[in-house]
Amino acid sequence: MLALQKVRPGSGIELRRLPKISEVLAGEVLIRTEATGICGTDLHIAEWTPGYESMQSAMPVTLGHEFAGTIVSTGSAVDGRFIGTRVTVRPSVTCGTCDACRAGDEENCTGRRGIGIGRNGAFASHVAVPFANCVVLPDGLDFEIAALTEPMTVCAEAVDTGEVKKGDRVLVLGPGFIGQGIALFCDAAGASEVVICGHNDAARLKTLNELGFANTVDTAGTTLSQALLPFLARGKFDVVIEATGAPQVIPEALASLKKRGILVVAGIHPRPAAIDLTQLVRNHQQVRGSYRAPIATWHRVLNYLAANQDRVRRLITHRFDLADAEEGFALARDKIASKVVIRHPQD
Ligand SMILES: [Zn+2]
Ligand SMILES: [Zn+2]
Repeated sequence: MLALQKVRPGSGIELRRLPKISEVLAGEVLIRTEATGICGTDLHIAEWTPGYESMQSAMPVTLGHEFAGTIVSTGSAVDGRFIGTRVTVRPSVTCGTCDACRAGDEENCTGRRGIGIGRNGAFASHVAVPFANCVVLPDGLDFEIAALTEPMTVCAEAVDTGEVKKGDRVLVLGPGFIGQGIALFCDAAGASEVVICGHNDAARLKTLNELGFANTVDTAGTTLSQALLPFLARGKFDVVIEATGAPQVIPEALASLKKRGILVVAGIHPRPAAIDLTQLVRNHQQVRGSYRAPIATWHRVLNYLAANQDRVRRLITHRFDLADAEEGFALARDKIASKVVIRHPQD
């Protein structure tokens, strides 16, 4: 089978031909992959930006951690009746042997390995995963939409962390896929206004307009506070959710947030941000980090996706077969695409 792999540290990824997976471990299942999303993490790994050094011990490793497919065989400890089940997969695999795992506290596992990062992933026609990581798809949910589940749980977690509720005015910084998903979940939570900011990001802001979000702002050639003036004239925001990974936006984000408001930080930042803590104190503001979502959120997100397929499908702006994955990576890198989905003609 073809597989898109990280072969060695340094810039680059390789499309390689590997033997088909013939056997899986007792607690694992073999999935025939149908759709795999390209994530910002995949771009970082391809470009080899700092922070992924621990992957080296797993190389060569097949990338791809946002995916959906069908179980085609089961390990000896898994009920064979699950063959034919359509699933998506939680990519974080706990070790089962560290102190936290043995105490039943898997959330704090210190030996996690990510599917498509620390072990083989789903930029291939087949992938072996622990059955415990599989989440069954609702009937009628398309595979390509189901492949968005993992990043959409990240979006839902950010909105939950911000406690967005009916009537809230929310500012979303960053119009990429995560910002787009956050906007959708703010809308679903009943926000009265969702303003989304990008910087030199016309294509992805246009996707947001097509999703029904009229309040988009491009800060190219201006500052965030300047661009937000028409909105701030009606008052500061109840919640600000950051999905840019740009630390310089944090002070302006806090300046746009009302007293006792919540700033959710969901981006991965290459360096620390400078915060005026005295202002933070006087404004009673909270800064909260948001990352991986609990399993309950996965079920909620899957139901949301099944109920909103036509709207969510607009987030998928490009589709490629695995053989042309490099082209998809280039589009995602250039901020042209929202989500690029790789399809897997079976070979
Ligand atoms: Zn991802
Ligand atoms: Zn563990």
